Formats: sequence, C-alpha cells, structure tokens
Amino acid sequence: MRILVVEDEERIADFVNRGLTSAGYEVQVAPDGQTALDQIHQSDFDLVILDLMLPDIDGLTVLEKLRVRKVSPAVLILSARGGVEDRVKGLELGADDYLVKPFAFVELLARVRALIRRGQPMMEKLSCGDLTLDCVRRRANRGGKAIDLAPKEFSILEYLMRNQGKALSRTMIVEHVWDMEYDGLTNIVDVYIRHLRSKVDDPYPAKLIHTVRGVGYMVDPGTKVTEEQVQMPDVE
Ligand code: CA
Repeated sequence: MRILVVEDEERIADFVNRGLTSAGYEVQVAPDGQTALDQIHQSDFDLVILDLMLPDIDGLTVLEKLRVRKVSPAVLILSARGGVEDRVKGLELGADDYLVKPFAFVELLARVRALIRRGQPMMEKLSCGDLTLDCVRRRANRGGKAIDLAPKEFSILEYLMRNQGKALSRTMIVEHVWDMEYDGLTNIVDVYIRHLRSKVDDPYPAKLIHTVRGVGYMVDPGTKVTEEQVQMPDVE
C-alpha cells in the first residue's frame, strides 16, 4: 500500500510519515503541490493525504487536477481549515475524507485503513498450500475437508492469509480483527492462534501457521519455516 503525504510543514510530514511507515505502509512525502502532482504522475499511489495550504498550488487545486486523471487514488484531506465550507468544497471536489488539524495519529490511521479497505478489491477466495478460504461464505477447507471456524478465528486466519509470507504482530492482528487498539488484548491472539492451529494445522503434516519469535505470526505454505529458523538472533 503506497501513500503520498502532501504536506509543507516538515514536523507534521515527519510525524505522519513515521507513523504510517511503522504501520506497514510505504510512504512518500511531497512538500508542495507541484511535487505532489509530479509524483502522482510518475507512480501509482493507493492514497494521497493532502494538506490544503501549500506554498505553491492550493491543495484543492491539486485535488481537482488529480480527479481528471483516469485512475486516481483515494484522497484524505488533512487541513487546519476546518470550516464547513472548506469541508464541503473538498468533498465536492472528490476527496474521500476530511480530517481537521490538530489530529490524533490513531484517528488518522483509522481513516487511512478505512479508505484503503474501501478501495481494495477484496479477493473472495484465498489459498495457502491445500488450505482455502471462501471469504464470502466464510468457509475454510483444507485438503478437501471442511474446517469449522469461529468468526474471530476465521477473521484472524483471513488476515494472515491476505498477508501470506509476512509476519504480523499481535498488535496488528488485534487492531485489524477487533478494530480497536488495546494492548491488553494481545494475549488473546495467542489463545486464538492455539485454537486455529488445533483445527488447521495439527491434523496435517505440513504446518501453515508459523510463530515468528519477537514479532508475531505468519502464514506461509511452502517454505519449511520453523520457529528456530525465523527467530530473531540473540544479541550477546
Ligand atoms: Ca500547510
């Protein structure tokens, strides 16, 4: 997921950049409108976070120019101009969301996630090795045999499978599956993973759910990843 942050205030740009990068997004920053348009012209972004008061072209003009493109990314306006008129204008010009400065990073992250989720064509069927998930009917099947999963178990497995080969932290799983941020819930992920393993992995020789020590969990089919191989090296 690629995000372009159009922001002339370095402090805010840095703050947003760091936060989104650590949330797993690929971020680029444009300090003014023209740079932003050039960058959008050169590569595809899934989302543009757009400040309105820019040193050269006004953010709303950037938005207008962006919207005439055939394929244009989702746009979230992030502005100190919080008046009704500005909001309405922004949304009329095709912005997908509007967040007023000052803002809390969690709020921004929640909006970013919602927008990216909205714009993404969801794959209906996911597979990993001989395990398949039908995300519409919420059914799991491994080696031709149906597996009965509780709703949260299914959601965790779906999230892991959509990110196959990538280690996801307990916090990421909690935030995604429960849609909230609460550190106290991270232990619950281990409990659910235990349940999932007993249904999805234990009866089969090839294990698909892997523990990544110091990070969290990962679903991966072919590579014979064992806990020992992926664990972080101990620093003496
Ligand atoms: Ca500004």
